Amino acid sequence: MALEFFESPQQQTIREFVHWVAQEKMRPNALEADRNQEVPIGLLTELKEMGITMDTGSGGGRLEESSEKKAGKTPKELNRLVVTAVEELGWGDAGITLTLPGAGLGGPPVSSFGTPEQRERFFGVFKDKEPRWGAYATTEPQCGSDVSGIRTRCVKDGDAYILNGTKTFITNGNIASWVVVFATIDFSLGRAGHRAFVVEKGMPGFIQGEKVHKMGLRANDTAVLYFEDCRVPKENLLGGEDLYEARQSGGFRVAMGTFDATRPIVAAMALGIARASFEHTRDFIKENYNLGRPVARYGRIKEKLAEMELKLAAGRLLIQKAAWMADVGRPNTLEASASKAYMGKAALEVCAECIDLIGDSGTTQDHLLEKWFRDIKVYDIFEGTGQVNRLVVARRLYEPFGIRV
Ligand SMILES: Cc1cc2nc3c(=O)[nH]c(=O)nc-3n(C[C@H](O)[C@H](O)[C@H](O)COP(=O)(O)OP(=O)(O)OC[C@H]3O[C@@H](n4cnc5c(N)ncnc54)[C@H](O)[C@@H]3O)c2cc1C
Repeated sequence: MALEFFESPQQQTIREFVHWVAQEKMRPNALEADRNQEVPIGLLTELKEMGITMDTGSGGGRLEESSEKKAGKTPKELNRLVVTAVEELGWGDAGITLTLPGAGLGGPPVSSFGTPEQRERFFGVFKDKEPRWGAYATTEPQCGSDVSGIRTRCVKDGDAYILNGTKTFITNGNIASWVVVFATIDFSLGRAGHRAFVVEKGMPGFIQGEKVHKMGLRANDTAVLYFEDCRVPKENLLGGEDLYEARQSGGFRVAMGTFDATRPIVAAMALGIARASFEHTRDFIKENYNLGRPVARYGRIKEKLAEMELKLAAGRLLIQKAAWMADVGRPNTLEASASKAYMGKAALEVCAECIDLIGDSGTTQDHLLEKWFRDIKVYDIFEGTGQVNRLVVARRLYEPFGIRV
């Protein structure tokens, strides 16, 4: 297939529309939502009415308006449209973006591994006029990157499973109508013991606990979840019992399979934040410095601006390629991890460099630059840390030789 470096008409339409929403609706609310650690429900309802949601997996949101979607088909460039839209949303505000109504990180496992009945039931929640959220929970107080170390227990009891354990740092955990929760039937079985459940708000023993107070993305709800003899009907075992009988590592595959879809999306959000920071700095310099003068200091500034521009452009290519591979149905684990590994680190460097260039005013809390710097750090931590994503890339390099690194 020929390489194309221009965006399709549909991508351009989505980018323009979402950019307008980001500029007019998100930016003006960004600082206040960060200070209040909350996105006003009125804003989320308004965005939902405009089709700006995180309906990951159900292929909803603004994309509903595409002609393919109207004809009941999934747009063939769905993943590229999503990363294009998310770059603009990240540019608008990442805290608000993560709080947009929809299935969020919970969408891809339900869409890839859920039974038709489960997909209908859990995505059906988002047809409500009111904002609704889904969430995804693997992380526990003692276990993050190494998902195989989860300790939340599930024990079969008649026609249900009883869950006990704690999940932490769960995005939209407190407000979610349902959460995809990973548990183990027997820790000693490792990956083979993993099961994924959809636990619904209000189920007895499911406690949506305290908010985690973070340095960045403060507008977004991140919560601790407790499961205390939580009874989950077997109909909520994701994919049904057959999925786990057919594949020993079924539950682990559900957890890992999600990342191929979500890592490019998270990388696109980081790209949006870094681009916001870069554009602000570029304009500040244009207004405050005479770059045409042959002063050594300005030479350094130009070099820094060029380096940042290259990082953003390289990151966008990696992200679009990972999304394109998903669109054409090719395995994209390497590309998804590469986009996230690269962009998480590069975006952090860009945001830090911008504060360096602008100086003291860039550090004040009245300024979005300071917020972008706090927001960006986590993009090299969640959805696989930088080290873990580089490890995934290294593994794929040696896979053809039968060597596991
Ligand atoms: C804002 C925010 C939102 C989040 N949202 C969610 C969510 O919705 N759902 C959810 O389940 N989790 C969520 N998380 C948790 C997140 O996924 C974990 O923080 C992440 O997996 C890293 O785990 P950890 O923090 O325990 O670090 P650890 O895994 O303990 O890692 C510590 C350090 O060791 C390094 N390291 C670990 N293993 C290796 C290795 N094999 N090789 C080399 N280096 C390694 C890491 O890169 C890191 O530098 C969120 C976290 C944050 C901060």
